[in-house]
Amino acid sequence: MIIELKDNIDAEQATRLAEVARAFLIHDGASHVLINSSSEKELPRELEPHTEQFFVFADDMQLASRKYRSQTRGVRFGNTVIGGDSKNTVVIAGPCSVESEAQIRQSSNLLRELGIGTLRAGCYKPRTSPYSFQGMGLDGLKLLGKMRDEFGLSIITEVRDASQVDEVIEHTDIIQIGAKAMYDQGILRKCGKAKQPVLLKRGFGSTLQEFVQAAEFILSGGNQNVMLCERGIRTFETKTRFTLDLCGVAYLKEHTNLPVILDPSHAMGYAYGVADLARACTAMGVDGLLIEVHPTPACAKSDASQQLDHRQFKDLMATLHPIAAAVGRKIV
Ligand code: PEP
Ligand code: MN
Repeated sequence: MIIELKDNIDAEQATRLAEVARAFLIHDGASHVLINSSSEKELPRELEPHTEQFFVFADDMQLASRKYRSQTRGVRFGNTVIGGDSKNTVVIAGPCSVESEAQIRQSSNLLRELGIGTLRAGCYKPRTSPYSFQGMGLDGLKLLGKMRDEFGLSIITEVRDASQVDEVIEHTDIIQIGAKAMYDQGILRKCGKAKQPVLLKRGFGSTLQEFVQAAEFILSGGNQNVMLCERGIRTFETKTRFTLDLCGVAYLKEHTNLPVILDPSHAMGYAYGVADLARACTAMGVDGLLIEVHPTPACAKSDASQQLDHRQFKDLMATLHPIAAAVGRKIV
């Protein structure tokens, strides 16, 4: 149940009422909001005089539900708004990993040339093998911070465990929670206490319900700046790396109030399919796209097979604008 308290309730009263309702207390927009278990059906009597409105839910999708907030939540970073009433399809691009200053500078220059404001690159890589490149860590974060200052870019990078959240916040603008970390309670709770936007990727073995419940951990912690990212799930098919769940995207757009971003790069796993998938995603009217692009993909230290080169990325970008326009959106 979500209980929106009346305007005249101060923080101290709200804390006491949260105890009465055995509820989380958060600030959503201007109001104090209490959330307790979705199986609660009756408003506690003591709360009645202090309640503006309340919502009862059949399942554990609460703060993320369109039944609670019918409009897509707006998430702001730098000069960019994703969701809200923006009608933006925000392109987030960059190499899989930060590898060197020269490499990440080339990526930043590409984004500047194309008027793209959000650079994504990993410094803490959750690799399947301990013998693969694990990312540059803090040195990489510092390079991203440098690109942010020099190029005025918003930066998104991944945390591999909760201990990295503070340093990622210090050097970048958006926290990415990767597919393998979607269930990590430590990361979810820590991000719930942060103010920075969070891009939560769907675990490749997760149902939509589990995906949204992971987002609820962040929302109920108090951070309302959550974006969902579909990046492909594991099916019986092995010819492509994963299977991009576009039906799932339609579900998320219909039932949740969170911006939805699509990642065709990790889904496909091979550069040859990424442009067509990115166009299909754009035609779905999503809030954002996450695309991996590298100055020399063949030499990339991670995800070499799926990264577009700069020429391929420029050609793709040119084709996205009319598709976005056809569905009433704008590529940003
Ligand atoms: C990534 O974004 O580079 C990444 C590791 O993605 P995922 O968590 O979706 O596998
Ligand atoms: Mn990658």
